[in-house]
Amino acid sequence: MPSKTKIAPDEYWNPRHETMSRADIAGLQVAKMRRQLEWANVRSPFHKRRFRKAGFRPEQFRTLADLRRIPAMTREEWMEAQVAHPPYGDLLAAPVETAVRLHTTSGTTGRMPLRALDSMRDWEWIAEMWCHGFHAFGVRPKDTVFFAFSYASFIGFWGAHYACEKLGALVIPSGSLPTDTRVKLIVENGATTVCATPTYVLRLAQVAKDLGIDLRRDSKVDKIILSGEPSGSVPAVREKIEELWGAPCGDTAGMTEIGTIMIFECRHRPGGLHILEDHFIEEVVDPETMAPVPYGKRGERVVTSFGRGILPLIRYRTRDLVVRVPSSACTCGRTFDLYEGGILGRVDDMHKIRGTNVYPRAVEAIVREHRDVDEFQIVLSREKDRDEITVRCELLKGREMRWPAIKKALDHDLAEAHENLRFGLELAEPGALPRFELKAKRLVDKRDYRP
Ligand SMILES: [Zn+2]
Repeated sequence: MPSKTKIAPDEYWNPRHETMSRADIAGLQVAKMRRQLEWANVRSPFHKRRFRKAGFRPEQFRTLADLRRIPAMTREEWMEAQVAHPPYGDLLAAPVETAVRLHTTSGTTGRMPLRALDSMRDWEWIAEMWCHGFHAFGVRPKDTVFFAFSYASFIGFWGAHYACEKLGALVIPSGSLPTDTRVKLIVENGATTVCATPTYVLRLAQVAKDLGIDLRRDSKVDKIILSGEPSGSVPAVREKIEELWGAPCGDTAGMTEIGTIMIFECRHRPGGLHILEDHFIEEVVDPETMAPVPYGKRGERVVTSFGRGILPLIRYRTRDLVVRVPSSACTCGRTFDLYEGGILGRVDDMHKIRGTNVYPRAVEAIVREHRDVDEFQIVLSREKDRDEITVRCELLKGREMRWPAIKKALDHDLAEAHENLRFGLELAEPGALPRFELKAKRLVDKRDYRP
């Protein structure tokens, strides 16, 4: 949807980089990549070993077409290096003494957390990346920014907090405070911007309602900045958030592995997120063959980050699914390309049910069309050698009588979007389904093995 938002005099955080020509972006990327490869080859035993094994020398990299000569790295390889050289592995390109902070991945069940270190300089860069995103969505010194974030070992919004200080905004951290206290703090302090995961922003709105607070009327919030979950770009989720808060929401996405965000939504809201192309090379490839995928086609993100000195990330396979489109898809004047619809899910998220591909994010987009659905869960099970998929829905208080109509609509829409695969549909008791603050896990796989 083309935006009618005008370009403001202070539209860009870094006007020179955000509007540079595509040729200049490529030139900058090649120069940075060359330096990064040389640095990693000398300083990081992990990269040196892998370059040698692949028969690759940094001087072989001359243009972006040479990217494919560089061996791609995976999370599993990083993990193996951590196990072989505990606790931090040999990816490090600087001594541990230069590090000032440790963060870990949120630790998916059964997986060892990934340990990431940063120096003071790395933290300055991490904040700078977030500044692009927050500035692009309109955060200025007059803003009061509330972080509904736990400030623990998960890196999450840590960098965004520093970015807001750097932007000159007033920051309210809320640590481990309970949800109702957070709601009151947002209202009492006149917060203008709220940052949280999409799931938690909805939770805040629900608790506000229970407290008799109408956020549209009683709060000064005029911007919501989301991160941490792909649903921040799902239209039905955004509409629900915007209706409850009376404020537009902007999505961002980052990763613990790079320490910050690599994509952000500008206030023109083009239905996609701009890639910080002056600090990252983002490639989109076919996950099976690693062949580049053209504009408009779905593929796996492969990222090279230039900012983190201690952990050089070179052609890192993210398993994130994206569709890249040219910068002309947005009217803001930035020359950075976009990922249409943000992060579309994970390569590994795909589940095959009786021969049909099912992506949880696509199911969420359909379920969230129904405003009476408060929470939901997708359950995969095996019954008599047949895979079953069931969506359990919890409705808003007092809306239970609408279930037959919602069930009928979901039955139709889910089948239509999935080659006529029939989904089981169940009404869950109020409060029966788990609520999440971070990294919602709404899919439960009860099958003992996967096809
Ligand atoms: Zn834009």
